[in-house]
Amino acid sequence: MVRAFSFQEARAEVLRRVRGERHTPSVEEIGLEDALGRVLGRDVLADRDYPPVARSVRDGFAVRAEDLPGEFEVIGEVRAGESSPLRTGPRQAVEIMTGAPIPAGADAVVMVEHTTREGSRMRTERTAKRGEYINQAGSEARAGCAVVMGGRSITQTRIAMLATVGCLRVPVYRKPAVAILSTGDEVVDAGETPLDFQVRNSNAWTLAAQVKRAGGEPHTLPVARDEYAHTRELIERGLSADLLLLSGGVSAGKYDIVERVLADLGAEFFFTRVLIQPGQPLVFGKARNRFFFGLPGNPGSTIVTFEVLARAAVELLGGIAEPRLPLLSARLTREFRHKPGLTRFLPAAVSADGGTVTPEAWGGSSDVPAMARANAFLVVDAERDFWPAGEWMPVLPQ
Ligand code: AMP
Ligand code: MG
Repeated sequence: MVRAFSFQEARAEVLRRVRGERHTPSVEEIGLEDALGRVLGRDVLADRDYPPVARSVRDGFAVRAEDLPGEFEVIGEVRAGESSPLRTGPRQAVEIMTGAPIPAGADAVVMVEHTTREGSRMRTERTAKRGEYINQAGSEARAGCAVVMGGRSITQTRIAMLATVGCLRVPVYRKPAVAILSTGDEVVDAGETPLDFQVRNSNAWTLAAQVKRAGGEPHTLPVARDEYAHTRELIERGLSADLLLLSGGVSAGKYDIVERVLADLGAEFFFTRVLIQPGQPLVFGKARNRFFFGLPGNPGSTIVTFEVLARAAVELLGGIAEPRLPLLSARLTREFRHKPGLTRFLPAAVSADGGTVTPEAWGGSSDVPAMARANAFLVVDAERDFWPAGEWMPVLPQ
């Protein structure tokens, strides 16, 4: 029996273990249109300087800064999408549009709003430093330097970067296969009508959604009956995936046989209890060279324990360099107390502007309706017992 881990220790243990044994996933190429949410498999480099030439960042006049202020002769114009043969001499100006290349000789742009124009004459009272309103060649990225790093998740912003450098075939890491195994004689398929003493298998659906969001490929196995041989057969199947997620059967009940089966398969257990709520009985280990999590079966516990611990393992196996727990902060709308000792992740509602958070009335780990009403989890420090109204608290968005 391994001692109970604090939440911080458990998360550090997951990161350390999975990082320590991680084999870099293989890389496949996909179209940029399918790349959102995937993990970049290697650094993508700038194909040229960005910007490739000095460009104006304002509509206005390109001039020599040393001639300012005063009156200028307008010798022509340059638009975005063309390159100009014009050369700006002393007291000369070229009318220029945002994004257009700076003509030779000019070293500053005066905004059109700061000028008056009469025929071919332009006047301004402004001075400018050299380089004002000019985006210099190579100032954003140099040709050959990495503009998106391997191991980063491909966000909409990185799609913009990849399209900018013309990377339409994107090298991404293969998604890790994650086996999902629900256990329990009372658990029936979600498409069935359960009897009073049965529950629909919601966990397989939640975990599949969470695995997908973490960048994995979920593979849902049939529900394991609370019986040794059947559970063992399915666990062995699950251990052929890159990661096995079990739900249920890890408490101290007479029919909670998951740990026994895993032990018989030669498993090494890194922790079997974490001081969090929901989710105290929580198993993380390795068997047949595969990591597994035994998540508690209560739906609320499954959701939370995946999100705060197992998700990081899926991300690491998918090639994410730095898994994050993206916490926000919000102010409590009313005071909050709890019994210290456990880090709690409690259903809560964050206001539309993100400023405040209100804990939901919560009936415990099986209270999925409360979680579904909520839009976040209030993260409650294990070492404090009281927070006055108005205090900032960390919040994990759902
Ligand atoms: P266990 O962790 O096996 O003791 O299960 C704890 C509670 O979670 C029990 O009330 C189960 O009925 C419920 N439960 C277990 N597995 C699932 C599942 N796959 N879907 C929904 N509820 C479950
Ligand atoms: Mg059970």
